[in-house]
Amino acid sequence: MFCPKCGKADQTPESYCRQCGFYLPDLSKSLKRVSPPEEHLKANTVLSVMTIVASFTLSFFLFLVLGFRSFTHPLIYVTAGILLAMGGWHIQTLIRTLMLKKQWKQRVPLNEVQAATTGKLLDQADFSDAIPVSVTEHTTRHLSETRQPKSRV
Ligand SMILES: [Zn+2]
Repeated sequence: MFCPKCGKADQTPESYCRQCGFYLPDLSKSLKRVSPPEEHLKANTVLSVMTIVASFTLSFFLFLVLGFRSFTHPLIYVTAGILLAMGGWHIQTLIRTLMLKKQWKQRVPLNEVQAATTGKLLDQADFSDAIPVSVTEHTTRHLSETRQPKSRV
């Protein structure tokens, strides 16, 4: 496969690019799309704002239409109170989401961190001085032959 960032050919999926260090996902495996954190933050902001508006509007109308009358049932106040608490809870959720959004924008991308700490990318592996498989197979077979007489004693 090709690296989607720098375009270097002949890459192994589910590893890092040999040229730029970009993570290469196995695209044939992951058909289900994973949404990035930015999208979750955006959805959270929208949902919080909607909940705040809805709960405060509903509690306002409960007080306005049914509240403070001679026939007002106590449950009206309980419901309006719960709605106000819900709105308040979502205000703090919205504040936290906005703070997280700000932090997320300020973060340093992983590639820049790697470049800053190592200064360069790793060299390609050198297998020229590796022992051939035929030699290691012979050695291990030889080892089992030498161990056997010891067990007989
Ligand atoms: Zn690359």
